[in-house]
Amino acid sequence: MENQKVTLSEMPTGSNCVIVRLSGHGGFRHRLMELGFVRGEKVRVVKNAPLLDPIEYEIMQGHVSLRRIEAQHIEVVPVTEEVAQNYTFNGTLTEEVTRIMGEKAKTITVALVGNPNCGKTSFFNHATGMREKVGNYSGVTVDSKLGVFKHRDYTFNFVDLPGTYSLTEYSPEELYVRKYIFENHPDVVLNIVDASNLERNLFLTTQLIDMNVPMVMGLNMYDELEKNGDQLDIQALSTMFGFPIIPTVSSKGKGIDKVLDSIINVYENLDGVTKHIHINYGADIEKSIDLVKNEVKKDNVLSSEFPARYVAIKLLENDKVTIEEVSKLQNTDNIRKVAKEQCAELERTYKEDAATVISGAKYGFIRGALQETYTIGKDRSKQRAYTVDNLLTNRWLGFPILIFFLWLMFQMTFTLGAYPQQWLEMFFGWLGGMCEMVLPDGIIKALLVDGVIAGVGSVFSFLPNILILFFFISILEDTGYMARAAFLMDKLMHKMGLHGKSFIPYIIGFGCSVPAIMATRTLENRKDRILTIITVPFMSCSARIPVYMLLISAFFTKYKGLVLMSIYLLGVVAAIITSLIVKKISFKNQSDQFVMELPPYRIPTLRNALVHMWDKSVQYVKKMGTVILLATVIIWVLEYFPQHSAQLDSYTARMEQVEADPTLTPAEKEAQLKTLEFDRTVCQSENSYIAKIGKFVAPVFRPLGFDWKMSVSLLTGVAAKEIVVSSMGVLYHADLNADENSSTLQSSLKAQKWTEGKEKGQPVFTPLVAYGYMIFILLYFPCVAALSAVFREGGRKWGLFSILYNTSVAWLAAFLIHTIGMLL
Ligand code: GDP
Ligand code: MG
Repeated sequence: MENQKVTLSEMPTGSNCVIVRLSGHGGFRHRLMELGFVRGEKVRVVKNAPLLDPIEYEIMQGHVSLRRIEAQHIEVVPVTEEVAQNYTFNGTLTEEVTRIMGEKAKTITVALVGNPNCGKTSFFNHATGMREKVGNYSGVTVDSKLGVFKHRDYTFNFVDLPGTYSLTEYSPEELYVRKYIFENHPDVVLNIVDASNLERNLFLTTQLIDMNVPMVMGLNMYDELEKNGDQLDIQALSTMFGFPIIPTVSSKGKGIDKVLDSIINVYENLDGVTKHIHINYGADIEKSIDLVKNEVKKDNVLSSEFPARYVAIKLLENDKVTIEEVSKLQNTDNIRKVAKEQCAELERTYKEDAATVISGAKYGFIRGALQETYTIGKDRSKQRAYTVDNLLTNRWLGFPILIFFLWLMFQMTFTLGAYPQQWLEMFFGWLGGMCEMVLPDGIIKALLVDGVIAGVGSVFSFLPNILILFFFISILEDTGYMARAAFLMDKLMHKMGLHGKSFIPYIIGFGCSVPAIMATRTLENRKDRILTIITVPFMSCSARIPVYMLLISAFFTKYKGLVLMSIYLLGVVAAIITSLIVKKISFKNQSDQFVMELPPYRIPTLRNALVHMWDKSVQYVKKMGTVILLATVIIWVLEYFPQHSAQLDSYTARMEQVEADPTLTPAEKEAQLKTLEFDRTVCQSENSYIAKIGKFVAPVFRPLGFDWKMSVSLLTGVAAKEIVVSSMGVLYHADLNADENSSTLQSSLKAQKWTEGKEKGQPVFTPLVAYGYMIFILLYFPCVAALSAVFREGGRKWGLFSILYNTSVAWLAAFLIHTIGMLL
């Protein structure tokens, strides 16, 4: 009985057993453990018949049903009813069962996987004490050798598999290794790697990572690496890959015991390194993987046998074995259809078949990992060919190049964007004028002209700048340069407690926070993601630009560019300080290393750049069509009502009197009517609902030097920061007619005077107040769209944090600017 393997699926109804081990891929085992199927746990079979599916079990006082195919992955030791009762009662097993359990649980099956000639057989021979033929040739037979031996108190079943460079092609060796891993479920895969030829050897490793198997890496030929004078940060590489890496010289038997100890630790879940990582294939491929994965996941049978992500990747690679595997399923047509579509889509995007693109991305992962951890020996590095990467990620040249590209990008955004922006502004001006003329006076016209067209128009005219910015960002991403930039920034970002990859969301954040926050998904760990999500809104998004443009051109005659730049910089400084503080408080001693992929360089195509630009812009366009439209209408309503009050009605009555007065000449009549009309508008606007709200909150903003109209505009900016300008337009509009020269909002702002308090008669807006106002707008809490993204990606806690923290920081900064400025 000891040598026989019994699985849970074979246990008859009413019988009892104790769990010895789980097999299968990582995700599946994890799911079983969550259901309570852990080693040493007692299970009673409630209902099992040979053709019955699912089977019902009682475990941890609860009932769980498993499919037969799942139960086959659970190895058990049968126990009698009496033993089971006793076990439940006091937690001890009989000596006999304990002995069998121990024997079974202390048996580890290890599969040796690696390239031909990397030293697998040498390792096998040294570990097992056997004398298998070691040779400098590959692929003689497609066969495996089994060796059994003891190490510590564990029994090792070592399987020496044929060498393969990959598990993608269809050579008999590759098929054999793949089948072995998925059918025999070794407890641990020992990946032997030739350290003197890392880049090529690690390709197989990336495939094992996709397969999500428990792994240990033997870094063999370590003597060769040392002889070459190369240096490798093994610990860093190990944390990046998520499994232990042990240097070995297997021809001399060095490092073998360490490897075996490490295997025991992984088997017993005792090692601190093991975690399942995903190789990041880049936004396009990841999107396709997700779509296929979702189809695959609908089938329970397949996803208990293989990780869904792995199947998706294989299908995109058009892997025949996997296609065959899938063809047995019910859902096969759908899966195949989605996979075909995505393959075609990837081929359209990259002009190469999907398999080539995916292996390109795998090499990107390897190159990134090695760039950070591997230094080639001095003697040999002289011979190394000149590469573009050496230039772009060079310590001295890299930064000037990066700064040049960023400068170019922002320059283009604003100079090129200015033209279409003017055209759009003209168009909306014309549209408003047309409606004004065509529509009859009344509430509909007022809503349309002053509300919708004015509000949405001022925001919409900004779209070209955003499209151009996203176009440039897409090109930088598509060429592969962005990944190099992130790589270059990595050290600097680490000082901020962040990761180099956060750099990309930050750059996108200058366009719009929403796609930037979405882009944080490429960050692997939660700490980096949260820190980036909550600091991205400090990157001055393009929605704030209209406010800056308005106030800077109105109140600063000299140094306009400098003022604008200081605002952007202040945002970056706020992000750095915030990140450092939050990291100190919330994420102490969490530093994880991740691979920064260096994807292959590609020549960007116009189609891709446009597609990616559009993907990113859609968020912004959606925001305009929904949130901003709604917000403008709400603000308009609050501003337009109430239309009747004793005072307002008295104006109307007097206007009617003037109209009917026969003693006045037409010119006099018109002049009087105009004055009355204007007074009525001012009166209406100062008593509107929004004015009431504004006056209510104004005291909070008074120490910052803001009047109630500014306060109201800030409130409306919560909907979207662009709205600040349109609300100022609406609110200060009343005064536009005050004198003939105040035809624009700018001069209207300049004409604003305090009507009460000790500053009565003095202008509201000074350069100081304008600056403080811009800083407040830069820092205070994100617009609803960005905020909903923070809530969605970061959770409620961090959403609330963003609201409270950012607003307090904004208030404090504006307060300091105002008070210090007043003293000077
Ligand atoms: P396999 O094809 O992966 O089974 O590799 P083998 O075990 O047959 O080894 C291939 C060759 O590499 C043999 O000549 C070994 O002596 C040699 N070799 C194995 N391990 C090492 C090592 O750690 N250092 C060095 N320098 N040579 C090794
Ligand atoms: Mg061999």
